[in-house]
Amino acid sequence: MSEDMSEDIYVGNLYQRFPINISKGKGAIVWDVSGKEYIDCMGGYGVALVGHCNDRVITAIKNQSDNLITCHMSVYNNTRLKFLQKMSKISPKELSKVFFSNSGAESIESALKFSRKYTGKKGVIAMIGGYHGKTFGALSVTYNEKYRKSFQPLLEGVKFVPYNNPSKIEDSLDNSIGTVIIEPIQGETGIIVPPEDFLQKIRKICDQNNLVLIFDEIQTGLGRTGKMWASEHWSTIPDIMCLAKGIAGGLPMGLTLCKPEILDAMKLGEHSSTFAGNPLSCSAGIATIDSIVEENLVGNAIKVGSIFKNGLLELKENHRIVRDVRGLGLMLALELRFDIKDILFDGIKEGLLMLYSGRNIIRLLPPLVIDEVKVLKTLDIMDKLLTREEERRNVK
Ligand SMILES: *Cc1c(COP(=O)(O)O)cnc(C)c1O
Repeated sequence: MSEDMSEDIYVGNLYQRFPINISKGKGAIVWDVSGKEYIDCMGGYGVALVGHCNDRVITAIKNQSDNLITCHMSVYNNTRLKFLQKMSKISPKELSKVFFSNSGAESIESALKFSRKYTGKKGVIAMIGGYHGKTFGALSVTYNEKYRKSFQPLLEGVKFVPYNNPSKIEDSLDNSIGTVIIEPIQGETGIIVPPEDFLQKIRKICDQNNLVLIFDEIQTGLGRTGKMWASEHWSTIPDIMCLAKGIAGGLPMGLTLCKPEILDAMKLGEHSSTFAGNPLSCSAGIATIDSIVEENLVGNAIKVGSIFKNGLLELKENHRIVRDVRGLGLMLALELRFDIKDILFDGIKEGLLMLYSGRNIIRLLPPLVIDEVKVLKTLDIMDKLLTREEERRNVK
């Protein structure tokens, strides 16, 4: 039986859960407790970036755990140093200083604090549709009213502007604003790719008005979109970049990469985190970066991503319930005319895991190691699922 859901006795009802109990994973495949195999286009919400149980990550964790698992930032550690050196090789050279934390929301909290300290201003411009996490600070710049409404008051001074119109940002500027925060591609809201020159225009507005520009690359970063950083698609470099999700091969890590003058504005003790920069996560982070670089996972995201997207476009041609296909690299979405719940549950029966993104958008975040064969199989299954959904809804 794959559906042992006894966990529900102990945990809060906070997640849309699927009736499946996973016990094993390798690459882009996971298995449930009964041994049934699934193609994983859920990818742990993007965490399984270099594949489940990546060999390099396994070896790194095993070796590091023999030596040292925890080590506070108040003392030095060479595994951490090696991770920082690797990270600096792949990140924009301007963002040369790093703050470690343990999750996406924490990396956003850190970015908001650093920017407020540096600019001395509390006002933030965030995007309509933006998602940055659910702790109080991150939630304050997250748009969705469903997440926000029971938790007011949130941080004051946040203004939301449309994710496609730079002049609306200029209109919203006043003396209180010090920061602009944006996802280079909106993930949670449905893989929304911004207009061609949007990020460049925002960069320019920030430069002209001395605003700190934060890019949330928690979902888009590390090769996901077919570039190491999604911002490279538009040749734009932020002042602060937030990372988390897949950066440590599945172990918790958040990173806030900053221009040095921004992080240097923070004084001793003004921010910290107990688990920050722990050697176990750092060792897995080293293995993750090695895997991305040496196995050319960015190239695979381009190549296999384009096969995947073309296949989705073909599904759109053949199925009237498909409204739109979006995304770059291996960050893709299929927007339908209806709620996708039945399709997702049906997918599980057919051996395919997919993600929600709003009630009618299927989000696909497979590990970057996924190959063409599995993508073609995924497309076959999706074809079948869409046909069945059309029958259920009587759409021809
Ligand atoms: C997942 C995500 C977050 C939040 O990360 P958590 O680790 O869940 O706190 C923030 N921003 C983006 C773009 C994300 O995809």
